[in-house]
Amino acid sequence: MTATQNKRRKLVVGNWKMHGDLSSNQRLLADIVKGLSEFNRADYVICPPTPYLFQARELLGDSKIAWGGQNVNQFEKGAFTGAVAAHMLTDLGCTYVLLGHSERRVLFHETNLTAAARFDASIKAGLTPILCVGETLAEHDAGLTEVIVASQMDAVMATLSDENFSVAMQVNMVFAYEPVWAVGTGKTATPEQAQAVHEFIRNRIARRNSEAADHVRIIYGGSIKANNAKKLFAMPDVDGGLIGGASLSAEEFIAICKAAN
Ligand code: PEP
Repeated sequence: MTATQNKRRKLVVGNWKMHGDLSSNQRLLADIVKGLSEFNRADYVICPPTPYLFQARELLGDSKIAWGGQNVNQFEKGAFTGAVAAHMLTDLGCTYVLLGHSERRVLFHETNLTAAARFDASIKAGLTPILCVGETLAEHDAGLTEVIVASQMDAVMATLSDENFSVAMQVNMVFAYEPVWAVGTGKTATPEQAQAVHEFIRNRIARRNSEAADHVRIIYGGSIKANNAKKLFAMPDVDGGLIGGASLSAEEFIAICKAAN
């Protein structure tokens, strides 16, 4: 266990992906707000689809649950049909944004370079970026997990000047280890597997700044459910979870949040 582990508050983030509508969101958010009302020892975030951020602001505004975007564009404005700028997210009260999610990388051909540019745009707008990294099954089976995770992290870290690194620290940048083979598959990394990669990520950050490494939260994502969350969150370098499918059920999501509380 790292000496400073207990200083880091756990963080649980719900990624709704492309699910929901006004009425089901209303029920889900109301149930989550009620269910988390007694939990004060961790931070909670919901990332709904972009059109529902306004609704999230209305329904979460008086709660301790934050909300965030599922992606952002690196440009501030312009002829980029369908894109969303960082200041548009902050206008809607977002404090977090997911970046480099494997579904964006695999299905929408986003790259380490776009993730790096978006990371930069996010921190400059005052958003807390949650940078997702993780290897595919083929890479995992080939023993390339650390190589892939390092390359995804280094692409972002290399573009950060020392000044921007300080800004990233001020906005409490987050890393999410999401093995692609575990996202949406029902297969979860074992707590030991997750711990090993989280420790690797923390050491990688320490190469740049050891104080930062102690403070940065590294969350795990990939088929977390109520029945496996506690053991994952008990690992010393696992600072919470990024929850996809299970965040669409109030009961499951609340139970996962409870495991972090
Ligand atoms: C995710 O979307 O980031 C995720 C981890 O999904 P799931 O929990 O469904 O695997």
